[in-house]
Amino acid sequence: MENAGQPVLKVRNLRTGFATPAGTVVAVDNVSFDLHRNDVLAIIGESGSGKTVTALSLIKLISTPPGRYLGGSIEVEGTDILQLDEAAMESVRGRQIGMIFQNPRASLDPSFTIEFQLIETLMHHDPSLTRAAALDVATRSLQEVGFPDTARVLASYPHQLSGGMCQRIGLAMVLACDPKLLIADEPTTALDVGVQAKILLLLKKRSRETGLPIIIITHDMGVVRAIATRVLVMYGGHVQEEGEVDDVLSSPRHPYTQALIRSIPDPDQAIEEISFIKGEPPNLLSPPKGCRFAPRCDRAVALCHATVPEWRGIGEGRMVRCHLAETGAAQ
Ligand code: SF4
Repeated sequence: MENAGQPVLKVRNLRTGFATPAGTVVAVDNVSFDLHRNDVLAIIGESGSGKTVTALSLIKLISTPPGRYLGGSIEVEGTDILQLDEAAMESVRGRQIGMIFQNPRASLDPSFTIEFQLIETLMHHDPSLTRAAALDVATRSLQEVGFPDTARVLASYPHQLSGGMCQRIGLAMVLACDPKLLIADEPTTALDVGVQAKILLLLKKRSRETGLPIIIITHDMGVVRAIATRVLVMYGGHVQEEGEVDDVLSSPRHPYTQALIRSIPDPDQAIEEISFIKGEPPNLLSPPKGCRFAPRCDRAVALCHATVPEWRGIGEGRMVRCHLAETGAAQ
């Protein structure tokens, strides 16, 4: 699969925080990664790991207090969007970066028909479009996400449609704007298994056919296996491991990734045999001094409690943040 050349998205040392009366919570701390054409990057981790804040940061939705950017850069095709004002960001969202959210109704207005909303969105992103041309694009986009009866869908209000249909319409709306990259934040979590498979298939098909790079935020390893080409594992606001999906899932090098994979329930397993990650995620107001996973890590040594591990390469396309990753002691 071709992904050579310049990355579509280049994130460097991104830090995002939230002001609280007790101090600043740094939810995303020195996160760096690249996204190339054809990549489907799954960002995984427990709740509170920083994965959703990372996604929202990438479309500059953390700019209003209490959220703020504390450092780093987010380059989309060479432009650092952290340097753009809100008016410029308006055209980046949708036209360059499309986003679909966990709640399929969040991107739809209950007061207007789907036809009105699709046409308004398309004409907003491309003012040269006539209403007839926008309707044509909307109809084709609805067909692409699997609606045979587009006339009925176009005439409907969101409340007349199921959650799965609303999510496909949200996807149609995003894809119709032909973004340079797509971010999907837990896009199938609220949907039943059949609809989930349909949405994942649509994303995979679009990426394969057009090279559209996708970031998918998920806590579901089934989703990772079904769609991702690369995986980025987050814990305590830090990226802990990154690599090709098959490599990471078959030989995870970071103890947190290993624990996450062990905790996937096997349908044949008795409930008492399921492995849980002991302890709780760190309080990001006062994170551990060394490795953020150290209080929960079976392999922690003195160095782990004293010094934050570096983010470093351990082979072709493989990055890990663990003091013991190269010694083999973390395997
Ligand atoms: Fe465990 Fe130490 Fe590696 Fe952190 S650095 S994951 S505590 S072995």
